Amino acid sequence: MTQQLTDKYGRNIEYLRLSVTDRCDLRCSYCMPKGFKDFGEPKDWLTFDEIERVIRIFGELGTKRIRLTGGEPLVRKNLPELATRLAKLPGIEDLSLSSNATQLKKQAVPLKQAGITRINVSLDTLRADRFKEITGGGKIEKVIDGLIAAKEAGFQPVKINMVAMRGVNDDEVEDMVEFCIKHDFTLRFIEAMPMGDTGREANKQYIPLSEIHDRLAKKYTLTKANMNGGGPARYVRVDDTELRIGFITPISQHFCDTCNRVRLSVDGTLYLCLGQDDSYPLRELMRAGITDDELKEHIQKAIDLKPEKHEFSEQPGKLVRFMSMTGG
Ligand code: SAM
Ligand code: SF4
Repeated sequence: MTQQLTDKYGRNIEYLRLSVTDRCDLRCSYCMPKGFKDFGEPKDWLTFDEIERVIRIFGELGTKRIRLTGGEPLVRKNLPELATRLAKLPGIEDLSLSSNATQLKKQAVPLKQAGITRINVSLDTLRADRFKEITGGGKIEKVIDGLIAAKEAGFQPVKINMVAMRGVNDDEVEDMVEFCIKHDFTLRFIEAMPMGDTGREANKQYIPLSEIHDRLAKKYTLTKANMNGGGPARYVRVDDTELRIGFITPISQHFCDTCNRVRLSVDGTLYLCLGQDDSYPLRELMRAGITDDELKEHIQKAIDLKPEKHEFSEQPGKLVRFMSMTGG
C-alpha cells in the first residue's frame, strides 16, 4: 500500500518541486541579483542516481507530481536523461518543467520523448528591449523560438508565467492576452514575492491581481474555469477563445491552507515552505549510506517541520534566500 506524507496541519504532501541546478543563463530582476555568480559547487549537487533514489522514495510516500525547476533546469547537462529516469518511477503520474525557454528550441523534442507532459515558461514582456532589461541581457527571440518549439513538440498546455510589476510591464497585460490567444498558450499572472533583496525590490512594485482581473473584465467576458495541474492558480476563461488565464496570488490572497508541496534544492536540502527558512538536509545523510526506510523516516521528520503559512506580508524582510536558490 502506498504510504502518505501528511504534515501536522493535516495537509497531504503529494507534489515535489525539484531544483536540478541553482544556475541560470538569465538574471531576472525579481529573482537573482545582477551579476550573481556565487553558485553551489558541483560536488554538492545531487547526482542523477541520488535524485532518482530520492524521487523513488517520494513516490513510495505518495508523491504523484514532480516539477523540474531551478535556476534554469535546461542548463543542467543531460536533463532529458534524468527526465526519462524519473518519468518511469512508480507512483509518479505527472512530470512537468518550469523553464525560461532560452534553450527549449533544441531540447523540446527530447524532453517530450523523455516523458515530460507540461511546460511552464517565464515571460514578463513581449518587447525585446524590455526583456533585455528585466532579464539582465536576455534575447527574447530565443524564448519565442523555444515556445513555438514546445508547442510543435506536442506539449499541451504550454503556460506562460508573467510576474506583474507596476511601472515595469503592467502596460502589456492586454498584449500578452492577445499573444496567448493567437498562439494557444495559457497565461498566468504572478504577484512578486519578497524573496531576497531582489524579490523585495520587485515586491514594492507588486500588483494585487484582482486589479488585473478587473481591468481585463472590462475588455473581455471572463468566466470561471478549471485547469488541471495541482497548482494554486485561480482560472478564468476568455469567452469565445480557448484562452485560460490564471491568477497566482501569494501576497493578496494566500493559499497556504491547501499547500500540498515541498521543494528539494540541487544540494539535497528539502525546503518546507517557499516563504520560510525551515529546511532539512538530506544529501549528507544519503551519502553516509542510510537505508531507504531511514530516508523515509527523515523525509517524514522534515514534513513535520512544514510551517502553517508564509509571512510575506507580515515579515517581508525575513527571507535572505532568493527564488533561484530554492527552486521556484
Ligand atoms: N528558470 C525557470 C523559469 O524562469 O521559469 C524556473 C525557475 S524560476 C525561479 C520559477 C518561477 O519563479 C518563474 O516563473 C519566476 O517568474 C518565478 N519567480 C522568481 N522570483 C520570483 C519572485 N520574487 N516573485 C514571484 N515569482 C518569482
Ligand atoms: Fe533564471 Fe528563472 Fe530566476 Fe529568471 S526566474 S533568473 S530565468 S531562474
